[in-house]
Amino acid sequence: MICDVCRAREAEVYQPHSGKRLCRKCFIEDVRARVKEESLKIGLDKANKILLAVSGGKDSYVLADTLASFIDPQKLIAYNITEGIHGYNRREQIEQLRKYLSSLGIELIEDSFKQSVGYTLDEMMKYSIGKGLNVSACTFCGGFRRKLINNAGRAVSADYVATGHNLDDEVQAIVINLIRGDLLRLIRFADKPIKLSSKFVLRVKPLRKVYEWETTLYAYYSGYQFQELECPYISTRPTLRAKVRELLYMLEDKKPGTLLTILEEFDKLAEKVRNQTQLKDELPTCKICGEPTSYGREICKNCELLISAGLLNYHQNLPMS
Ligand code: SF4
Ligand code: ZN
Ligand code: ZN
Repeated sequence: MICDVCRAREAEVYQPHSGKRLCRKCFIEDVRARVKEESLKIGLDKANKILLAVSGGKDSYVLADTLASFIDPQKLIAYNITEGIHGYNRREQIEQLRKYLSSLGIELIEDSFKQSVGYTLDEMMKYSIGKGLNVSACTFCGGFRRKLINNAGRAVSADYVATGHNLDDEVQAIVINLIRGDLLRLIRFADKPIKLSSKFVLRVKPLRKVYEWETTLYAYYSGYQFQELECPYISTRPTLRAKVRELLYMLEDKKPGTLLTILEEFDKLAEKVRNQTQLKDELPTCKICGEPTSYGREICKNCELLISAGLLNYHQNLPMS
């Protein structure tokens, strides 16, 4: 079968959402074109510096590769965090990532929870369980990761922080926030990000219109040596996401293109809601770490977690040894 786009090479990929059969080259070009379109819409091409939050998984490689195909790599800087999860964080994986990024001309900054928070994720969990808390590792991990990525973006004076979230991740998050009825959080998932604090670097997701199966195939065709190990804490993840994921796959299977339609319709709706919503003032800052926190809070969720695990002394404002 011949590729529907170039009409020259053999087709290897069937794209259910477009109904097209594509050769490898046209498939790669198609993904890059969608990432470029989304990025131009946000204005990434006009940025002076973009921090890429890279985990070492397949989406990080695809993010760096697609952005470097139309943005000067000198304007891109990658940032990786080692969470400190025994058996999961591996040195060779970071070296592999560094080698690949360097081949694209992108520098990599390395950080870790141990270095910037004072504890590895395993240590946080050990203390948290010791105190009888019932908080999942992902709550600690996600919260501190967001904070450190934002700090890193500010430190390098980035105009944007780009993450490797794909279409599947994005639609799952939208549906979860719809179920929770969190409007303010919900409109933050729209294509044009909003800034609720001068301390926030705008977060963007250039892969948000690319299906997960496409990032997997892109990574496979490109021969990336990405991290394939599963995090040992994944089984403790909140179950709502798994259920929503299952439901969305069922819908996509019955009607290919459903995820894309949901996202596109959501973007239109979010634009209207945003125009009619009176955004509140600047977010308050945490009394301990000085970073933005939710309205009505004096201490951010991250500092609160450390205090409850007995890892931070509120009065001395220092990690406890
Ligand atoms: Fe962190 Fe949870 Fe992801 Fe593991 S599964 S890396 S703990 S967010
Ligand atoms: Zn082709
Ligand atoms: Zn704080």
